[in-house]
Amino acid sequence: MSAIATESLLAGIDAAVEPNAPLGKRTYFSVGGCADFLASPRSEAALVDITRRCAEAGVPLRVLGEGANLLVDDEGVDGVVVCLDQPCFRERTFDRSADGVTLHAGAGLAMNRLIRESGQRALGGLEQMIGIPATLGGALRMNAGGRWGDIAQSTISLRLVGADAKVRTISASDAGFAYRHTSLPAGIITGAALSLRDEDPKELRERIKEISAIKAASQPLAANSAGCMFRNPADSTGRRLSAGALIDEAGLKGLCHGTAQVSPVHGNFITIETGGSTRHVAELSEQVAQRVHDRHGIRLDREVVFWRRGGSE
Ligand SMILES: Cc1cc2nc3c(=O)[nH]c(=O)nc-3n(C[C@H](O)[C@H](O)[C@H](O)COP(=O)(O)OP(=O)(O)OC[C@H]3O[C@@H](n4cnc5c(N)ncnc54)[C@H](O)[C@@H]3O)c2cc1C
Repeated sequence: MSAIATESLLAGIDAAVEPNAPLGKRTYFSVGGCADFLASPRSEAALVDITRRCAEAGVPLRVLGEGANLLVDDEGVDGVVVCLDQPCFRERTFDRSADGVTLHAGAGLAMNRLIRESGQRALGGLEQMIGIPATLGGALRMNAGGRWGDIAQSTISLRLVGADAKVRTISASDAGFAYRHTSLPAGIITGAALSLRDEDPKELRERIKEISAIKAASQPLAANSAGCMFRNPADSTGRRLSAGALIDEAGLKGLCHGTAQVSPVHGNFITIETGGSTRHVAELSEQVAQRVHDRHGIRLDREVVFWRRGGSE
């Protein structure tokens, strides 16, 4: 479908629409081309309209969170990219009942903000997510987390506009949360209910400080990256091996390819120079996977999502 046809496809929908919108600056890698259209719906109903029209016209539809786990091709992406940056997707309420506190939050909210606001109320339950840049929607889709836990453990349910334009509420037990993975139907998460608990504010602050310090000491936080490039692979007993250690043992820390480099600080981070090329990151990640396979006989799967024209992974 031509760009003009896509523009008319979005006509009359209550959304801010930007044609030919640069995506690189909206990702942590800071590289990559443009989206044919970037749409910020002003209501869930408008998001449903966009979804329905894209489905009927066969136009690709993607959703962008904070761009912290995303590599956008140098040639950009086709179709419509939705961004949940309007106020209706950033509302939150803290509801107390006899069972505890439930946080109802929009999927466009930054996790760091939710952690901070929970902390101000002396509520714990999200601190395992500290230092993971994400919107709530992106964290849920990836089941983001690490050694302190993941978003699944705090999730009661989520709301999703499916690729069929139907709005569903899905309980955590039906979301198929697994290690850095969900089995959700295709679609866009618009919000979630999260379970919080009363905490001693001092202990909560200390825990957050401790996790932040460990991350700051072991990750190249100032560089352009998307965090861990690869999932930790499982061995034959199901135990997760550290992809970073496998990369380190293969002697790949510091390896450069064009504008991309395997971080000398953390082997599972690939970093890129500002103004660099997505192609370099993609090629370097393939080299790393191949050399880890040559050395250890283990296949590494990419955790970072790669968007490109004509299809994404
Ligand atoms: C410095 C650094 C450290 C990191 N550390 C960790 C870590 O410790 N643990 C960890 O798990 N990750 C980590 N990451 C990766 C990243 O933070 C997570 O994957 C995070 O969940 C990405 O969220 P996002 O909103 O940025 O999603 P994006 O990167 O914008 O999108 C990622 C995927 O989620 C989809 N998505 C986004 N929003 C929605 C939505 N509303 N509905 C449905 N799908 C959606 C996108 O379409 C895409 O497929 C790190 C990244 C960086 C840069």
